Amino acid sequence: MQSIYDFSLKQLQEKLKPSFRAKQVYNWIYKKYATSYDEMKNIPNDLKNDLNENYKIDILKIAKKEKSSDGSIKYLFQLHDGHTIETVLLLMKKKKINDEGIIERSEKYTVCISSQVGCKVGCTFCLTAKGGFVRNLTIGEIVAQIVQLKKDNNIAENKALNIVYMGMGEPLDNYDNVVQAVKIFKEEEGLSINGKRQTLSTSGISSKITKLGNEDLGINLAISLHAVDDTLRSELIPMNKAYNIQSIIDSVKDFPVDARKKVMFEYLVIKDKNDDIASANQLVKMLNGINAKVNMIYFNPYPGTTYERPTRQSMLKFQDHLINKGVLCTIRESKGLDISAACGQLKEKETNKD
Ligand code: SAH
Ligand code: SF4
Repeated sequence: MQSIYDFSLKQLQEKLKPSFRAKQVYNWIYKKYATSYDEMKNIPNDLKNDLNENYKIDILKIAKKEKSSDGSIKYLFQLHDGHTIETVLLLMKKKKINDEGIIERSEKYTVCISSQVGCKVGCTFCLTAKGGFVRNLTIGEIVAQIVQLKKDNNIAENKALNIVYMGMGEPLDNYDNVVQAVKIFKEEEGLSINGKRQTLSTSGISSKITKLGNEDLGINLAISLHAVDDTLRSELIPMNKAYNIQSIIDSVKDFPVDARKKVMFEYLVIKDKNDDIASANQLVKMLNGINAKVNMIYFNPYPGTTYERPTRQSMLKFQDHLINKGVLCTIRESKGLDISAACGQLKEKETNKD
């Protein structure tokens, strides 16, 4: 049976008669987080029966939940076939209340979602890659991650969230389902998360970046660059042999970005591999002509890896160099570090216990 979360509003309008019922159902599942048709008070019984027989409200099962001291929460969701995926609710800014008890600023959330069980790309620094590729997530499984997080944390229906496709999997390897999920998230009668609030991170399948750009979804792009020469990049991301750095840069140059937005280049820093100033220089040259910002990430070691975490000093030096050359550069704060930070690591912990 298909999940109700698989459908755009338009598709649901085509399925339900009369079609205005689709908006009502959308409201129940995306604004009130209803998990049964029985709750839907304004839906007539015969339609409830029809819905019950045809579409399940497939909210994800929480297998495990870990809260970090910074307020971020990492979820391990169990899917129907027993496989698990990770989703992280990152608390970017805490609520600020002044002395008079008035809220000066509300909390800001970003949700990091998964697009696949495992991943085909096989990056040598990534834990998700170690388990190999299992399967693509369905549209409904991608969408339900956000619904379950909002429901489980009682996040108000109109609270704006940001989404980053930086959990497990390569989103452009599950192209059709991810694109459909982006559209469902944008639906105003539903979660109403516009394109500007969604950032898709890819290891750089350049042909699909071009295809994605042509869809004009208004989403932001993040490129997992991690290296400035093809030899090292192919060691880190084997797929680089098929889609080299130049092909990625070319596809990014054609990608439609909002004038006020930048393409993010993620640069995972590994000690003595890519943390030198010559690399920083090369990076500056490479990004010339692109409205780019660089986000440096500390490599997060795990048992069995030979790669090492870079020093804070080398990170700062690299960052300074970029900034001095006029390239915007941030260092990713390790949100939720105490709950096993990088993607794939909560899942790994669970598996090792068995
Ligand atoms: N597959 C896509 C989507 C995100 S992958 C991509 O590669 O862009 C998950 C994220 O976790 C990436 O940003 C990757 O750089 C990061 N990551 C993977 N292994 C890591 C590790 N050991 N330490 C720190 N970050 C890691
Ligand atoms: Fe896949 Fe991204 Fe991990 Fe590479 S870093 S193996 S692309 S999830």
